[in-house]
Amino acid sequence: MGVRPLLGISSCLLGENVRYDQVLKRHSWLVEVVGNHVEWLPFCPEVALGLSTPRPAMRLERDAHGKTQMVVIDNGRVVNADQSWPNHLARCLGRLNGYIFKAKSPSCGLQVPVFDRDGHQSGKSDGEFAKRVQSQLGHIPICDEIMLGDELHRFHFFESVFMLSSLHEHVKGGQALAHWVSEYRWSLLLRCEDACQQIEAAGEALAGDEVVAIVEQIICMPLRPDGCDVMKKACLQQGLAVDYEVTSYLELRSILSSGVIKTNEHALSKPFPFEFRRNQ
Ligand code: SF4
Repeated sequence: MGVRPLLGISSCLLGENVRYDQVLKRHSWLVEVVGNHVEWLPFCPEVALGLSTPRPAMRLERDAHGKTQMVVIDNGRVVNADQSWPNHLARCLGRLNGYIFKAKSPSCGLQVPVFDRDGHQSGKSDGEFAKRVQSQLGHIPICDEIMLGDELHRFHFFESVFMLSSLHEHVKGGQALAHWVSEYRWSLLLRCEDACQQIEAAGEALAGDEVVAIVEQIICMPLRPDGCDVMKKACLQQGLAVDYEVTSYLELRSILSSGVIKTNEHALSKPFPFEFRRNQ
């Protein structure tokens, strides 16, 4: 395997004692399985703000201007979220291949409840730190540990992480981008056919930060819902008979990986570095 992808992660998912209630939330599959194939960059945005452990619980509230902010539930004190985060985010820029957040946190969570000042829930928003990761680190795959419980989501997240890592290594090594695109053709196609075809049409002319940014954007797109049909069509175009009554993209991919059907060009299914199916 080449260079390991670098993933940002909420520190508490690695078992660090940083939570407001001091309950440990170590995610054993991430630590024991995924941890053998990636490098972690753990960060607790609340500890980085100088808050103690334990500390009072906080939630997201919308202020009079509609802006969300982190507020201590007991006394309504607003927590200034802008100290120390910019420095950390600047250190992450251009280095991370993905981010795994702890769900339901007003700092790290994705789509957590937002309250009005009277304590009524008035919608949902990403946590204050998760929002800044997305706005300041460009296109990187993100998820939380609840999303990782879904097989397709887990597959998509980690495939995107390894694609991004391989893309960055490829570009750093000064190799032609066209070669990388051909290697990952099917994974790109299963995200956005039009963009993939435009990039392929540019052929050897592919180069430059702008094109890399477009490829990064495609990598982070969701998988097409008709992914299984797209792959079956691709098999047929290559003269590969798919006799299986397969309706799931992941099942078809696993049949192709098992070597039952031999693919001849643009490996339809790139090997995955670890067992993304897990018994949990
Ligand atoms: S969810 Fe985020 S802020 Fe809360 S303890 Fe974990 S890393 Fe820290």
